[in-house]
Amino acid sequence: MEYAIALGSNLGDSRSILESALSSLETVVARSSWYETKAVTLPNSPPQPNYLNGCAILETELEPLELLAQLQQIETELGRVRYQKWDARTLDLDILLLDDVIFQTKTLFIPHPRMSDRAFVLVPLAEIAPDWKHPVLDCSIRELVQSVDASDVRKL
Ligand code: ADP
Ligand code: MG
Repeated sequence: MEYAIALGSNLGDSRSILESALSSLETVVARSSWYETKAVTLPNSPPQPNYLNGCAILETELEPLELLAQLQQIETELGRVRYQKWDARTLDLDILLLDDVIFQTKTLFIPHPRMSDRAFVLVPLAEIAPDWKHPVLDCSIRELVQSVDASDVRKL
């Protein structure tokens, strides 16, 4: 089975945190560049540091909930450092896509419900999987990325 995942961090040494996250996943078959992106915040919340974002493709026989558990374990292991001042993240790992599967339980939605309006997800994903078809929207990642404003996403 092929999964697309998104990685993000805006606290601590983001680059090495994201690199460590990728190395703890044994099944990475493709990975994007890293992108510096502007944090998306709610209207009245304080500003946050920029994020570092990227995407990867995993080839694994793990079931969706097993993969989610593995990603959450990596988030906990690498996100141990506590910061109090900011509502920011040392590490966020999300499942974006699984083949052409639609999967919905209380704790996991695939495709990720907000991926189609997030330039910080679509730009890196388009780099490694432009022809992957979104099973709900029935269009490719290449088409989806053209419909978002990517001016706050900068390739490193
Ligand atoms: P977010 O990633 O939306 O900023 P969190 O990382 O805190 O927020 O995730 C909150 C919850 O989202 C997780 O506990 C998980 O159960 C749920 N979730 C639902 N769909 C997905 C998905 N496709 N990938 C990752 N988590 C998901
Ligand atoms: Mg998450």
